[in-house]
Amino acid sequence: MPADYHSHTPLCHHAEGTPEEFVQAAIKVGLTEWGISDHAPVQPEPFDDWRMSTDDLPAYFEWIDRARAEAGGALPIRAGLECDWLPGCEPWIASLAEKYPWDYLIGSVHYLSDWDFDNPAWLEKWAQTDVDDAWLRYWKTYTEMAASGLFDILAHPDLIKKFAYKPTGDLRRFYQPAIDAIATADGAIELNTAGWHKPCKEAYPDIDFLDLAHSAGIPLVISSDAHHPDEVARDFDQAIALAKQAGYTQTLLLNQHQRSFEDL
Ligand SMILES: [Zn+2]
Ligand SMILES: [Zn+2]
Repeated sequence: MPADYHSHTPLCHHAEGTPEEFVQAAIKVGLTEWGISDHAPVQPEPFDDWRMSTDDLPAYFEWIDRARAEAGGALPIRAGLECDWLPGCEPWIASLAEKYPWDYLIGSVHYLSDWDFDNPAWLEKWAQTDVDDAWLRYWKTYTEMAASGLFDILAHPDLIKKFAYKPTGDLRRFYQPAIDAIATADGAIELNTAGWHKPCKEAYPDIDFLDLAHSAGIPLVISSDAHHPDEVARDFDQAIALAKQAGYTQTLLLNQHQRSFEDL
């Protein structure tokens, strides 16, 4: 079983579970490594209601310590953050990177300007949105994030499809610039299984993106994006099959930002 590096804690106000429950779930499913990557603080605060605040960071470090104590020698516990890519965020991300000996930072696009488009609170807005325009803005933003080179892993590549609003035709016209930027910056992506449980009913990304990523030599992690211990490594068998379908034979491991690879 590969590592599962994308997990949340109750500090973000929309996840449940103790470190002990998460670690026991990781041991039970036989993960190689388990990683914690809660929604990082954003400045200036308050920003939104679905992340930890900067003042929560010491509690977050304690949460990681408790997870490591529970795991003992059973499996390595890796520590990261899921950081939001927002205009002008680079100095803040750089300062977050120095606050703790992280194993990895995950970069995510959840916002287009002030619209957190994947928030179910905005479903009505989606019905009135120009889908092609939203996709163009999303992929431009994702490409800029990839080019920054600030992140070890780029999260849920086609999250913009979450509520099943998609342009017509071959979507690779949106993917290719992002693929080029990720490859040029030597970035890695995740295959995020949470999408199978959202209205889009597909993993993030879809097989076409995954094919392009594999052809471009972009490393892959498989992630559950668990917000509950029951979701640790959810649908990993299905995800491994999809990764293999795209040609992947290995997944990426990260320890203090250093890469190694594990056979699928
Ligand atoms: Zn979340
Ligand atoms: Zn996310």
